[in-house]
Amino acid sequence: MTVQPKRISHWIDGKPWAGVPSRTGDVFDPATGARTGLVDFAGPSEVDEAVSVAARAFGEWRHASLATRSNVLFAFRELLNARKRDLAEIVTAEHGKVLDDAGGEIQRALEAVEFACGVPHLLKGGFSENVSRKVDVYSIRQPLGVVGVISPFNFPAMVPLWFVPNAIACGNAVVLKPSEKDPSAANFLAELWAEAGLPDGVLNVLHGDKEAVDGLLNHPTVRGISFVGSTPIARYVYETGTRNGKRVQALGGAKNHMVVLPDADLALAADAAVSAGFGSAGERCMAISVVVAVGPVGDELVGKIGSRMAGLRIGDGRRPGCEMGPLVTRLHRDRVASYVDAGVAQGATLAVDGRDHPVDGDDSGYWLGPTLFDHVQPEMSIYTDEIFGPVLSVVRVPSYEAAVELVNLNPYGNGTAIYTNDGGAARRYQNEIEVGMVGVNVPIPVPVGYYSFGGWKDSLFGDTHAYGPDGIHFFTRTKVVTGRWLDPSHGGINLGFPRND
Ligand code: NAD
Repeated sequence: MTVQPKRISHWIDGKPWAGVPSRTGDVFDPATGARTGLVDFAGPSEVDEAVSVAARAFGEWRHASLATRSNVLFAFRELLNARKRDLAEIVTAEHGKVLDDAGGEIQRALEAVEFACGVPHLLKGGFSENVSRKVDVYSIRQPLGVVGVISPFNFPAMVPLWFVPNAIACGNAVVLKPSEKDPSAANFLAELWAEAGLPDGVLNVLHGDKEAVDGLLNHPTVRGISFVGSTPIARYVYETGTRNGKRVQALGGAKNHMVVLPDADLALAADAAVSAGFGSAGERCMAISVVVAVGPVGDELVGKIGSRMAGLRIGDGRRPGCEMGPLVTRLHRDRVASYVDAGVAQGATLAVDGRDHPVDGDDSGYWLGPTLFDHVQPEMSIYTDEIFGPVLSVVRVPSYEAAVELVNLNPYGNGTAIYTNDGGAARRYQNEIEVGMVGVNVPIPVPVGYYSFGGWKDSLFGDTHAYGPDGIHFFTRTKVVTGRWLDPSHGGINLGFPRND
């Protein structure tokens, strides 16, 4: 039986958009290859409609009391927690990651929502009494206005929720442009926000591709853009948005190294490399894609990683026991598989060939098993490129210094981990490494919701990281007021520069 693909439309002004799209895109179930959805692609008029609605809603929402805003956030937090299983199923059906992993994404998203629930405290300004005679100075944080959030396919629930809660809590109105590959999670979130009591138009979801993104980047009413995606698009979004006078934070791609020192517990390191390398089929910006084996540990470490990979269960994320799902699209699957060929052609040792791995899933799914390369050299494309799939490279280096040099020469700087039992070495690494997020015996060091998330170098364009305190900073502008009250003897006319005495 062929199932009719469902229509996935924009969410504008608190309801599904009822217009006729000029373009649409196909949405697939990666575990079966079936076309399950048809998503509307926004053109200039839909962008304009969503931004105008958001601008109107902003006019009211910016005046909503902090109590009202935090009530909506608390209600949303409760709804998200109660409905997380439904949302996880939506994520698995369009992204392919296994249900448990989709649940983990939502659990981490909850942290960002919970942080924003504290907005009455987070928006407190400063106050200085009597900076001059009878003059007080105080600072306040005000929203930017309409902001755009543009998110990637790999975390269709979590990445939008890195930004939307803080943006809304600070009094902004949002146009969210999710990935066209797995668009349904964003609509589910919009419905939950509406149920939580968020006024119509404060959060809008606009689906589409480059045309929708360009529409937001060029729209004069949009004041800020939070972007997450690949490095070339992040750079483009940052350059275009800032040229148009917007505040932009654009998080890009990654190539995350896990350094294993000779004194490390190699069983622990091997477990971590497999978990962080192949979880979500390697489609995480914090996935470990390079293991740096220092000194003599290479042979033993590669053996331990390889033996663990043999037991991984690959298959449909809805089936019990499956640990790794398919790649997101057929095109992406074939691109990742081409790197396996390239690694062999360029002379790396193919220690485990994922193309042979058994699969518990439909033959038409976008499968590729976990692959391990040893003796990888920094000039090989499997090292230089972000593959974004289940392909793990081992680079062997002679010393700690050589490991640091390798990581610091890499243009990306999102996450890194070091495995060691030497506290001094770990402390030195965290100090010397040019990467935004560092794990010490922790392979995926995603900061908790009350810190902020962000990489260095080509992994982030802009000054502020995502969510947490940096998010509040990004979504507000500071205003400083200098005021004098009840002082009739103001001293008369004085053309000199105001002095505090
Ligand atoms: P992508 O760059 O292809 O797409 C991201 C967003 O940009 C999507 O909404 C997409 O519609 C839009 N887009 C795509 N092409 C565009 C173009 N030419 N012009 C304007 N907009 C365009 O990324 P993806 O494949 O969806 O996601 C995977 C990438 O995201 C990886 O590189 C991964 O490392 C990165 N990522 C980074 C982080 C981080 O925090 N640094 C987090 C998650 C994902």
